[in-house]
Amino acid sequence: MKKSITLYQHNVHIGNLILVNEDYPIVRPFHPQLVPIGSSYAAVSLQRNAAALLSGAFHRIGADERIVPVSGFRPLSEQKQIYEDSLKENGRAFTEQYVALPDHSEHQTGLAIDLGENKDDIDFIRPDFPYEGICQEFRKHAADYGFIERYQEKKTDVTHIAHEPWHFRYVGCPHAALMAERDMALEEYIAWLKHFPYEGEHLFTGNDRYEMEIFYIPMTVPSSPQTAGIPRSVRIPLPKCTAYQVSGNNVDGCIVTLWHGRYAPASSTRRRAG
Ligand SMILES: [Zn+2]
Repeated sequence: MKKSITLYQHNVHIGNLILVNEDYPIVRPFHPQLVPIGSSYAAVSLQRNAAALLSGAFHRIGADERIVPVSGFRPLSEQKQIYEDSLKENGRAFTEQYVALPDHSEHQTGLAIDLGENKDDIDFIRPDFPYEGICQEFRKHAADYGFIERYQEKKTDVTHIAHEPWHFRYVGCPHAALMAERDMALEEYIAWLKHFPYEGEHLFTGNDRYEMEIFYIPMTVPSSPQTAGIPRSVRIPLPKCTAYQVSGNNVDGCIVTLWHGRYAPASSTRRRAG
């Protein structure tokens, strides 16, 4: 197991928790590892973990054939095309409400997926994904698989994106569950995590298998002639853990998640030897 981790400025802009919105665009170089979502939807891809967990969620609720992945990863060229086509077909007001500007779309991260209820005529920009039936069943289990409903009606003041019942974002576990529990949009969650800096009190959460520890590492570099062009890096000793994951927030720092295995669940009874 590694004894320390070194984070560089580019780490701020990659990982499951990156915030991509009107204020924070994709920062290049950005090379997500993409895979198709199952064999039936080879044209729709997501980052590897997100694709695997989406398939897992579908399997759990029996959603195959009933929910269709409509749009996943989009390269910049496709986002540009969609934006321009929508301007022509739907006008500016509609487009600004429902289509993100090129480089400001979560779809370019490979972590966002638009889902539609399977029927004959599926709208590509605004697929039906009602709050009932199999679609609602997906929502109920989404957080267990690391997904959040990203643009909720009650959060339009925070996200500045109209209500999109069909758009889900992979943020990973345990973050999706924490966001759901605390009723936070990604913008709010990223801001809240700054209350748990590496050098302060960390955030703890858990399930029956793991205790998870989360903390934030600021990576802002005060710009001055002395620091210009110097890649900022931070090296921290890695606390003892079973596994760890690092993600940038795409704003000003990185979030580290540690998993501590619970080898003796509190609920189990142990027999003393002899
Ligand atoms: Zn979408």
